[in-house]
Amino acid sequence: MVQSQTSRTQTDRKSATLLKIRDLQVYFPIYKGIILQKQVGWIKAVDGLNFDIKRGETLGLVGESGCGKSTTGRAILQLIRPTHGQVYFEDTELTQLTGESLRQIRQQMQMIFQDPYASLNPRMTVGDIVSEPLEIFGLATGRDKQQQVNRLLEMVGLTPDFIHRYPHEFSGGQRQRIVIARALAVRPDFIVCDEPIAALDVSIQAQIVNLMQSLQSELGLTYLFIAHDLSVVRHISDRIAVMYLGKIVELADRNALYEKPLHPYTQALLSAIPIPDPQIEAKRDRIVLQGDVPSPTNPPSGCRFHTRCPIAIDVCSQQEPEFRDMGGGHYVACHLAE
Ligand code: SF4
Repeated sequence: MVQSQTSRTQTDRKSATLLKIRDLQVYFPIYKGIILQKQVGWIKAVDGLNFDIKRGETLGLVGESGCGKSTTGRAILQLIRPTHGQVYFEDTELTQLTGESLRQIRQQMQMIFQDPYASLNPRMTVGDIVSEPLEIFGLATGRDKQQQVNRLLEMVGLTPDFIHRYPHEFSGGQRQRIVIARALAVRPDFIVCDEPIAALDVSIQAQIVNLMQSLQSELGLTYLFIAHDLSVVRHISDRIAVMYLGKIVELADRNALYEKPLHPYTQALLSAIPIPDPQIEAKRDRIVLQGDVPSPTNPPSGCRFHTRCPIAIDVCSQQEPEFRDMGGGHYVACHLAE
């Protein structure tokens, strides 16, 4: 009885929406001329995203480099201010916040970057790095602060004996653990993980993913997990959104996306993942996309994927496909999806 109540509470928590992203746009101006800088256009890095992130879930966000996924993560946290649209964190609309109110809510949202080498100050000790956010947000001082730093290091699998050491004394995986400890110091609800394992050795990647999963279930964290290929997000994500040239083209539960991808771009990305069984690998067809990703300064008309889509028809270059719910929360933006 107690067990079923607990699992029901966890399910209820997981189905509650933590973040709502509505019509999110991030455009960067392009200027020409050195002295009289004249604006000549826009880079449309993120162009009209709509999605929710549920409390306690991991939403994977996948796409080729330059598709706008990192910009999306930064815009949600207001590290880059959106050009248009709304970002609701529970009931608070973040794009309207400034100054102290924005600073306070940022405590609940953290970001882990791809490169643990670049995101740690080489002149600070591990103890100072992890305790800095505790000081900035006034969460702990003196002996209490020291105890919290020790506890955070233990939580990420490091020993408190490391507090006097510097980042260069650690391996890539250990540095990423320090980055995670620093992010956890402010007790966040939501973490944007921007390719957190891409710079690590393959042998270390699984350890960091496992750590992030166990921290998630222990602390009830919600993740937006950004990656450039679908194999990385498979094990950690509850749902996955696929991005192409500033837009989400498909969003679905993990299993639905892998078993029945509806968008030709998702199908192409999935077909690029090698299968460990050599017999199956030899027989299956790979979809090789022609051409490069077009420039976000002048995206193609209609469906942005039409210049590379192997099944495009006339209407694709003229009319933008709607982002439709095909049932069970499986969304796709393709005229031909059924
Ligand atoms: Fe391809 Fe047309 Fe579908 Fe776009 S709308 S993915 S071009 S079939």
